[in-house]
Amino acid sequence: MIDIIHHGATTGVTGSCHELTLDFGAAPALERNSANNTAGILVDCGLFQGQEKGSSASASDLSIDFPIAHIRALVVTHVHIDHVGRIPYLLAAGFEGPIICSEPSALMLPEILEDALKIGFTRDKRLIDRVLELIRTRLVPVPYGQWHPVFSEQNGSLSVRLQRAGHILGSAYVECEAVSGVERERVVFSGDLGAPHAPLLQEPASPEQADRLVIESTYGDKDHESRETRRYRLKAILEHALADGGTVLIPAFSIGRTQELLYEIEGLIHEFRHDAVADGVAWEDLEIVVDSPLAAEFTSIYRKLKPFWNGEAAELIRQGRHPLSFEQLTVINSHEDHLNAVEYLARSHRPCVVLAGSGMCAGGRVVNYLKAMLGEARNDVLFVGYQAAGTPGRDILSYGPQGGWVELDGERFDIRARVHQVGGYSAHAGQSDLIRFIEGIAKKPREIRVVHGDDSAKRAFKQRLDSLGYSGVLIPSE
Ligand SMILES: [Zn+2]
Repeated sequence: MIDIIHHGATTGVTGSCHELTLDFGAAPALERNSANNTAGILVDCGLFQGQEKGSSASASDLSIDFPIAHIRALVVTHVHIDHVGRIPYLLAAGFEGPIICSEPSALMLPEILEDALKIGFTRDKRLIDRVLELIRTRLVPVPYGQWHPVFSEQNGSLSVRLQRAGHILGSAYVECEAVSGVERERVVFSGDLGAPHAPLLQEPASPEQADRLVIESTYGDKDHESRETRRYRLKAILEHALADGGTVLIPAFSIGRTQELLYEIEGLIHEFRHDAVADGVAWEDLEIVVDSPLAAEFTSIYRKLKPFWNGEAAELIRQGRHPLSFEQLTVINSHEDHLNAVEYLARSHRPCVVLAGSGMCAGGRVVNYLKAMLGEARNDVLFVGYQAAGTPGRDILSYGPQGGWVELDGERFDIRARVHQVGGYSAHAGQSDLIRFIEGIAKKPREIRVVHGDDSAKRAFKQRLDSLGYSGVLIPSE
């Protein structure tokens, strides 16, 4: 029997963790022990976030509360923390198998886990180094499009193949070829799928075959604005925001969104270089600051991974352009430089764009900028990502436009700066993109499991699939 089990991302969009397990059937009575008769893999092992995070100090969010003795490998779709954050806990629970992922993910995984461990686990550097070393020894990078055998035994075998998912660099969906006794099945796990035409990334192609498909549905109920519209909206907002000589502050996440924004801004600087972006300042003289060591680290990893960029980005490189390290870009590393930059920009009237983490303003360097800049109307805050309920980012977005206030580190700050939002960077595929992904599969899957979405998104997506004649569409619950 070939079974799919969900350990997360069935209620909401975080804690992704799915299992594919083969039951080899009845063994001789003496050997009948579940560990001998079953073998499987996990696809992702992510952290729960958002509302559930309120109690994240509790071990229950982190502990691995399902059997893992039969798990032969972990396959990682991409390195966002809601897909990989529980890996240290999986190891602590005794998991001894390999961690299979794409080549870019193998480079980025230890970096993102180092940060996660520092924040949520321990400050003990030696302990962190030991965990990271263990993770590095388990990593098995597999090229895209190449079958990789996980196990092969008398009664069953399992191979996996990673394909580009277009979500962040290194992201993949996972094709599994499972054989159990006389059964043979192709099971596909989508991971997070990206929207087509994302900066830097190649867009995903549909699987050639999927008897069963587990698919995310974050935006299963809506479509995004097109990339061109979004790009010109970004330009209009920046020009409008910088007209009065203030700073535009962009709270941004370290992986994906920061690099996509830099890429888009470099494109705008190149295209409109002699046009004015602000009074007396041409686009080519606009200063862009990345003030986040982690974002800078991932930007440099992205730069090293040029062979994985899409054709458009590769063409820019051939033209001698540097989409992620252009001359107008300044990276701030040390804490001292950070404090100086906050102070300087708060006083100066030089137009400047600052990207700083964290993306939802719940901590990180962006908080110091907000404290120094929210009170002045010439400054602007531009949100490019989803702001979860209960975060300062959501409060600024909700109350800022009416001249309200936000609480930062226990203190109230009035919001006189203008607040804007552009959606769609590092986004998930919209409904039509997800449908296109499924319709590209030559033979309709006999079962489609809709996961990783809010209830309304999952239901709307299921309805759409039902109406297109797909049968066997399920919304699994944990
Ligand atoms: Zn993701």
